Formats: sequence, structure tokens, C-alpha cells
Amino acid sequence: MYLKLNLGLSLAVLAFVAGCQSKGTEKSNADVDQRTVFFDRSGMDTTVNPGDNFFLYANGTWLKKTEIPKTETGWGSFYTLYNQNIKNLQSILEAAGKEDQKQGSAGQKVADLYTSGMDTVTIEKLGIKPLKPLFDKIDQIKDYKQMIAFLADGYQNGEGDLFDFYVGPDDKLSNKNAANFSQSGISLPEKSYYFNNDAQTKKIRTEFLKYATKLFTLTGVDAANASKYADNVLKLETAIANSHSTPVELRDPQKNYNKFYVADLQKQTPNIDWKDVLKRLKIKTDTLLVGQPKYYQSLNTLFATQPIEIWKQKLKFDAANNASTALGKAFRDARFEFYGRTLSGQQAPTERWKTIVNSTDRNLGELLGQLYVEQYFKPEAKERMLSLVNNLQKVYHSRMEKLDWMSPETKEKAEAKLAAFIKKIGYPDKWKKYDDVEISKGTYYANLQSSDRHAYKEMIDKLGKPVDKTEWVMTPPTVNAYYNPSFNEIVFPAGILQFPFFDFNADDAINYGAIGAVIGHEMTHGFDDQGRQYDKDGNLKEWWTAADATKFTAKAKKVTELYNGFTLMDDQHVNGSLTLGENLADIGGLNIAYEAFKLTQQGKGNTKIDGLSPDQRFFLSFAQVWRIKTRDETMRVRLKTDPHSPEMFRVNGPVYSMEAFYKAFNIQPTAKMFVAPANRVGVW
Ligand SMILES: [Zn+2]
Repeated sequence: MYLKLNLGLSLAVLAFVAGCQSKGTEKSNADVDQRTVFFDRSGMDTTVNPGDNFFLYANGTWLKKTEIPKTETGWGSFYTLYNQNIKNLQSILEAAGKEDQKQGSAGQKVADLYTSGMDTVTIEKLGIKPLKPLFDKIDQIKDYKQMIAFLADGYQNGEGDLFDFYVGPDDKLSNKNAANFSQSGISLPEKSYYFNNDAQTKKIRTEFLKYATKLFTLTGVDAANASKYADNVLKLETAIANSHSTPVELRDPQKNYNKFYVADLQKQTPNIDWKDVLKRLKIKTDTLLVGQPKYYQSLNTLFATQPIEIWKQKLKFDAANNASTALGKAFRDARFEFYGRTLSGQQAPTERWKTIVNSTDRNLGELLGQLYVEQYFKPEAKERMLSLVNNLQKVYHSRMEKLDWMSPETKEKAEAKLAAFIKKIGYPDKWKKYDDVEISKGTYYANLQSSDRHAYKEMIDKLGKPVDKTEWVMTPPTVNAYYNPSFNEIVFPAGILQFPFFDFNADDAINYGAIGAVIGHEMTHGFDDQGRQYDKDGNLKEWWTAADATKFTAKAKKVTELYNGFTLMDDQHVNGSLTLGENLADIGGLNIAYEAFKLTQQGKGNTKIDGLSPDQRFFLSFAQVWRIKTRDETMRVRLKTDPHSPEMFRVNGPVYSMEAFYKAFNIQPTAKMFVAPANRVGVW
């Protein structure tokens, strides 16, 4: 239950949004249509020298006066728009619930899923009953062989956390779908949480033990055993985590591409009967892609060496943990105390209706998405966006032509890749079907199970079929964007094509500084340290001359070093290696957007709006897009796991590498962040 069927590791998204759970205090859509002011001057802090810290100059007053709502992990641009969207989705769902819906229609399914999730009276009455069948099966397991069978059987119902399996393009044969296995099996954000011994991490482990103890207690285990089981789970997960690759290691596509004949994998992991596992998972193939083989080698050992009773405790913990948001209040509160309060710093749980709107988006995304775009997306926005994308693509091409460090040979291939970008804007041309998902007003848990089974079937049916490049990974209302290297595509869901990213009535400086930089960002992902390793057809394949690759790496290293030097919360460092791809995309994206802006009438002129020159508005609009205040706890997790830099550096990193920025704000060499022209970074 609630298992996020993995859609691939290599997707480059625009921003961290996992924690976006927002509060309903923002302007309605009607207000947004009438917007006449596109940059919030009152949020600036003009006592800050723009050369000392541009992010604070642009956003300082807003940061000082903004209080993060108790139910939130942060607040600002993305959160605000997310909040507006989720309210729109809620109104769609509530309206659909009041209408007489035909059984099996889109309206019936989304409305009833929402209704069942909101029916906390029934959920409370059911208690732990939904978990019972699963717990009974776990109780019957006698040895690790039976356990592996249980895991494989359960995976298609969204249960079981030890095998992480998905069907997606073979990285080296991008038109062919392959069975991909990757590391899994831990409940903390990543490996280091099990091993670091600083006070903060130790506190997180202590709180995790409390959480696990509470879950065991809620499922009927007595107090003494509950705490013992929790201890066992943490110890077992620590052993599992030991074999995990780090977030930085996971960024290397070559190292995470390991193709095995099933027979060869069998030899390396003799305790896992792969033939049987694949049969149960309904996978018909001779070859598998294993992202992190050492994870499965370690599992192979742990299966046989750890007592089965301890494994069964882990299975029960996983089951309760995964189902916790679909169960009664005591489960939800326990989950909030750990994942919400301790890990994210939230002070109050997310409102139930937001959780359930989210769940509807996650489970029936392209049904709800159809209703959303009918009401909230204008076809003109798609046209305008497409012309912006085309403008930026032309500029990117001409910048590539002019690169002094790249050979004509590599350039030709890079330009062909740029020209081959698939562009997706707004929503899919063809919608996914959910015919076999059975949704009733009855029980939320059963609805989710049906949805999970459908998602698994939809995924497994792709195996053996060519890759469908019309497919979308994000739903239409999502406030985000992505580059998918296997498809060589840039994708902008309807959700992000709104203020502060995009507005029909805004001047070009505002739109190019915002959505323009976002478009440039996604395009640059095709040529960041990961994306550049994929060719124009989405195949992981070396297409650079060795000399050009060496030059790229040297330039990228300077970017890594620059961001390694950024600190926040006094002693917390940005990880320049973890964030390299995103930083390259931020820097490249802003440069390309700026050059495209200079081709517009406003960009060529010098007419001030609201006292700001066109260039000043461009850079300030960019800074406003990243106007986000984040809770310290969430930021600490992000610094370890999120490939995106904190917002302050997503602004400051790129602007201080651009001569136009220095000119626009007349920044002198005495300014704190002044970088001598020879030392400025950038690749594209
Ligand atoms: Zn990105």
C-alpha cells in the first residue's frame, strides 16, 4: 500500500516538492487573472547591497516577515502556487461528489476516492482490520524462502519494500522497456542517517525507535516486545543500509547500469530464487537491469543470516508504516510525529483534505487531470509557452555554435540532440485509462489497493513492448517540470504555467526571468553531467570526443567547488557533487533565458517599469521565483538528499557568474559576492 511504483532514477525535476503541503490562505484564480503587478517590490530588502547577497536583496523583507504556516515544511513561490492548485482540485472533487455520476465514469472515480478518504468515521471504525490479511500472511512465513515469495507476491499490490522494481526504458536501448531493480528497504531518508553520530542524526534515530515502537503497539504488540521489535527493525535496516549507494553515487548513470542474464544474477545471489521471483512478479525476460547489485548481494546474505522472526518484524513494520496514512488517527498521528515533526519540522499535521486530494492526484492522476485542464488551463497558454520554448531553443543553438571550448565534431552532435528535444506542454495528448480500478465510497484502503494493482498491471504490461514516448511522468496540475534523458524530452505540466512562473499579462522581463529560466534549466539538463551522457535518442552512450569530455569535466569541477563553498544555518554545507546537475541547469538556464530576453522588444529597449530597468526586472523576477523559506529540519534533509541547491544559491550561484547582472545592478569589485570575470563559472 502506498508504495510509490518507481518510475526511474534519472529524471531531472525542477524543484524539491515532496514536502509541499500547503495552507489555504492564498488568492483565488480569479484574482490571478486580474493581476497587474508582477514583481513584489515590497518584498525586497534594499538595505542589502545586491552585490553582497542578491537573494536577500530581492527577497529579504519578505523572508523577514513571512511566517511558515504550522502545517507546512516551508512557504513561498512553489508552496503558494501548489496551495492555489490544490484548492482548485478540491473544488473539482467536491463538485463532482455533489453531481449524479455514472458508475465507472471519471467523475465517479475521483469523487468517490476523495469521499472515501475523507470518511474518517469509517476508517476509524475499521481500526487495524485492513492490515489483518497481510499480518496473517506474515505470521504464516516459516523461512526466508517463503518470505521472498511473500515479497514478490505482495509487490504487485503495493506491498513489500525490499525489492524495488519498475519497468522503464533500458538506458542503453531507449526504445526498449526493461525490468529494472534498485536498492530499497530503508525507512530513513538515506544511508548516512543510520551511521552518522552527530546529535541531530542520533535524535532522528531515537525518534524513529519511538515511532516504530508506537506502530507495533498500535497493531497489538505489548509494550516490552514493541520496543524490542523496534530495536530489531532499526538494526536490520542499518545492515541493509550498509550496502546502499549514497545519493552522490546514485547520480552516475554508468555505475548504476548493470545488465545481468538472470542465470548470472542467480549465481551471485544463490539464496534468492530469481526464476520464482520473476514468475510471481509476472516478469518474462532473460535479462535484468540491476541498479545497485551490491544491495541484492547483501540482501542475499541477510536473508539467510538474520533470524526469520526479525525479518517478520520488519515486514510488519513496513506494512503498518506504508498504510499509516490510510488508517485511523492514532496511526496518522504517529506517522506525523516522526516524518512530519521530527524529520521535516512541521508543527501540525497536514489537513486531511489536502492529503486526500494529493492521494487522488497520485492514484487517478490523469482522470483528475482531465477535469483540471478543462477548467483551469487555457489552450492559448500552450501556444505561448511553445513559442517561448522555441525561442530559447534557437538561442541555445546559437550559444552552442559560439562555444570556444568544444570541437565541431561534438558540437554537431550536441546541436542534433538539442534539435531532437520532445516538447510536452500542459497535459498529455492521450489520457491513461483506469478501467480496471474499482472505486467506491466504501473503504479508502480497498480503493487504494485496487489502484495499486492497476498501477502494477499498467507497468508490467509495458514489458516486451516498445517504449511509449507520449507517456507523462507528472500529472497536469503538478507545479514542477522535468527533463527525461531516456526520452530526450522537456515537460511542463499545466500546473507550473501560472504566476509567478508565467503570466499572459506580464512583461517579457518577468516571463523570461521566470518560466524562461525554467525552460532553459530543463534544456540544460540534456547537457548536464548526467544528461550529456545520453545521446539524441536517449541512449546512454559516449558521443563526445575524449578531449571535449575532459574540458567539460574541468569546467563542471569549478561549479562543484563553487557550490561546495556555500553554507547555511551556520555550519551546513551545500554538497557540490550532489547538486552539480541542477546547478549546471540553473546557470545554463538563466544565461539562455537572458539572451532570449534580449531579443524581445523590451529586452532591446531601456524603458523602466515600476522604477526598474528591463534587465533589473529580469534578474529580480528570477530571484522571486525562488522566494522560498524552508524549515531548518526540512533543509537538513534536503542538504543530504535533494539534488537541488537551497533557493538562496539557486539564485546567487547563477547571477554572480553573469556579466549582465553586474552591469544591471552596477556591482563593484568591492562587493562581497563579486567574482572576477576570469573566475566566473558556467559551461553552456
Ligand atoms: Zn532540474
